[in-house]
Amino acid sequence: MTSHDNQAFLNEELKYVREKLTEILKGTEIVACHIAMVQVKIKRTKYKQTVAHFQFPKDYPQSAILIELKSKTLSEKLLNKLVEICDQEAKKHISSPQLVPIITFIKKFLDENFFSICSDEINYIKKNLINPEKDELKIKSKSGTLSFNINQDKFYMTFKIFVPDNYPGEPVRIEETASNFPGYLRKVFLSQAEEIARKCVSKPLKRNSKTPPFEPKSSLQPVVEFLVNECIKRYPKESCPLCHKQVLPEKPEDVIKDTSHPNHLERVYCSHIYHFGCLDKYMKTPPFKDKKCPACKSIIYHEKWNVSAKVAEDRWAHKQAKQRELEEVVDFLAD
Ligand SMILES: [Zn+2]
Ligand SMILES: [Zn+2]
Repeated sequence: MTSHDNQAFLNEELKYVREKLTEILKGTEIVACHIAMVQVKIKRTKYKQTVAHFQFPKDYPQSAILIELKSKTLSEKLLNKLVEICDQEAKKHISSPQLVPIITFIKKFLDENFFSICSDEINYIKKNLINPEKDELKIKSKSGTLSFNINQDKFYMTFKIFVPDNYPGEPVRIEETASNFPGYLRKVFLSQAEEIARKCVSKPLKRNSKTPPFEPKSSLQPVVEFLVNECIKRYPKESCPLCHKQVLPEKPEDVIKDTSHPNHLERVYCSHIYHFGCLDKYMKTPPFKDKKCPACKSIIYHEKWNVSAKVAEDRWAHKQAKQRELEEVVDFLAD
């Protein structure tokens, strides 16, 4: 083709894009469309969107279109990768119109890659939270599912994290598939992980007019980090702040189910774990006001010992009185 033919070819292609693109490809919006520059906004959700900038080399369409991608929400790394594969794709369309195929390709990428919006978080998780020798992570891009199998000593938990289409506007969803931690801890792991996810997208109740408008925060990394570091990898090694002996047994099958057994595991509000016997004794000994966790100095909250300092003091005084009575009886008998 001569340069004149090229010009005519390009004009024809631009005309087609102007007239048809937004109709044939939902989620696109033309920002500019002329020979010097084409700009198209390609959008899947509020978060998964990019503006593609195209320029035409002199010998277009005999050589590939020049592509640049910009986005306020997608990571630089992902955009660079996407440009790279778009360049490859453009080469397949040499000598024919390239705009529509490339824009379609980018739209399809955003539609099918649930993780395009959280690629940085996934890289962080792979690098920092997964031990490749012990743990496992399976990534299913098209359904937005991450399947984890995390191990610590003889304890494990397998769970799935679902990244919704509208992420991070909506939080990730968590589903436990199997675990050999005590049932009571498993419930705590899940409910706290859900709470972390929820907080990422909930507007704080108290706000002053000076704070910038609330933007949902990414919930994937905080949730996985909590489950891996603050739960699964933590508790098998953790000892009781009172007797300094490990709380979970070496073998998961030895976990004590009887809630009144002295070695039954109790987790308090600050997240430290105790033996029931140790904690019970500690909570029933004065001083009663603002009983603190010896490990972190925060006040202990636990439903089993959810009594006011006054009540605890009265009980203790009563017990002491009983003890004195008994001692008096013993003394009396000894006389
Ligand atoms: Zn203990
Ligand atoms: Zn504590």
